[in-house]
Amino acid sequence: MSSDQVYIFDTTLRDGEQSPGVALSPSAKLAIAEQLARLGVDIIEAGFPQASAGDLDAVRLIADQVREPVIAALARCHPSDIEAAARALESAERPRIHVFIASSAVHMEAKLKMTPDQVLDRVGEMVAKARSYVEDVEFSAEDATRSEPGFLVDLAKLAASMGARTINLPDTVGYTTPEEYRTLVTLIREALDDPKIRLSVHCHDDLGLAVANTLAGIEAGVRQVEVAVNGIGERAGNAALEEVVMAITARKDQFQVQHRIQTRELFRTSQLVSRLCGMMVQPNKAIVGRNAFRHESGIHQDGMLKDRRTYEILTPDDIGVEQTLLVLGKHSGRHALRQRLSELGLSASSEELVRIQNRIKGLAEVKSEINDQDLVAVWQDEVQGVKVEDIDLVAWQVSTGTHMRPTAQVAVRFRGKVREDSAIGDGPVHALFQALSRALDLNGLELASYRLVPVSPGEEGLAAVSVEVSGYGHRAAGYASDVDVLKGSALALTDAMGSLAGRVLPEATGVLGAIVE
Ligand code: MN
Repeated sequence: MSSDQVYIFDTTLRDGEQSPGVALSPSAKLAIAEQLARLGVDIIEAGFPQASAGDLDAVRLIADQVREPVIAALARCHPSDIEAAARALESAERPRIHVFIASSAVHMEAKLKMTPDQVLDRVGEMVAKARSYVEDVEFSAEDATRSEPGFLVDLAKLAASMGARTINLPDTVGYTTPEEYRTLVTLIREALDDPKIRLSVHCHDDLGLAVANTLAGIEAGVRQVEVAVNGIGERAGNAALEEVVMAITARKDQFQVQHRIQTRELFRTSQLVSRLCGMMVQPNKAIVGRNAFRHESGIHQDGMLKDRRTYEILTPDDIGVEQTLLVLGKHSGRHALRQRLSELGLSASSEELVRIQNRIKGLAEVKSEINDQDLVAVWQDEVQGVKVEDIDLVAWQVSTGTHMRPTAQVAVRFRGKVREDSAIGDGPVHALFQALSRALDLNGLELASYRLVPVSPGEEGLAAVSVEVSGYGHRAAGYASDVDVLKGSALALTDAMGSLAGRVLPEATGVLGAIVE
């Protein structure tokens, strides 16, 4: 019999970060990892170190700083991937290497160009190699739900015999159904017949079944679930952490399992991930959506007033939605700021704190209540924004309206020199983008993504703008928040272009145009 403890494996920073258009800086990843630790997740998959130097740095930073949860790094069944994962995890207290290889016929033939026997040999070697670095090794058979069950049994047995403690059976393409998954998990569990091996599921939402399939896995004896905050991830995303956790919490009678999640941190975690990733949470999203606890119909409201249990199976309090978020005003001192930031799990240097305080004062001029969401947005701007020392938006202006082409004029200071230019665009943001590209002589740039997320409700609310620009073989993300959407856009674009210009240009060269034409 398996124990009744379900381990929550969070992949927000790995699979979630693979959401199209999402690019998190290492410090943003660290902020999310710290919040995940407060939330009480058991395992944080921090990234895929072999994928890029930035990924390796982020995993290393998290391994170094985040203590409670196990820190996992992903690796293909290649020696260099496993070496990169081991290097990134060097300072982790509880490191895990997560190795994977595809096991379905279509993946083995078309992608890996390997026979099943070759795949088996590789898994044996690579699980052993991972074990030579760390005690805790997880093995995933990618596309398990479209793999031949007999072959999966062989793979699972081999991986377990070589020392993998966790065997994951991912529904990589979101294809399975709850009944089918239950059967597959049961088959593998009975074939392994070892209560020390923890089985795991990893479900994608292509058919909207990720959470249902994950719960079916738990019913079949799985004791690790791989989930992501707000359900973000490749394509339609992963099973949402908050939905799986609240389902096994609210229906404990049905699932009979325990978890260690501090559910009152769920809402705050959702908000932080939404903001840092630039991915809005849909209003009707289960558990953490804005409407999740709102009752509109008269009959429902009447019932709620008589007895909340008539229409409420969860309370806002369960997931930490605070009714009043007012914490700060114009006169809030630095001490109060630091105090509130640390309650939110965010840290800032004294210098950053001064900048945050100035921003909050400015914001308090136009907005009567500064709430936690505003504070987090400002913190993100000042602390984890990609700051390139030499770029500064000096001035900007946009005109648009009926019967005129949107026109923007900008002045930026780059490496001590002010550059001005103007341009027309399809819309005001596009005009700003064009004007900034021209001012910086970055004419080969493309605006790869633009996202606008309201930070706080109401007319005077802040808006967070995330952009991604690409060109010259690089991509760079920019982020800013402001009560003025166009100003926020201009700042985010400057942020991204400055970061890209910094990478495109060799340190020694002062003139941009000469390098990048
Ligand atoms: Mn996945």
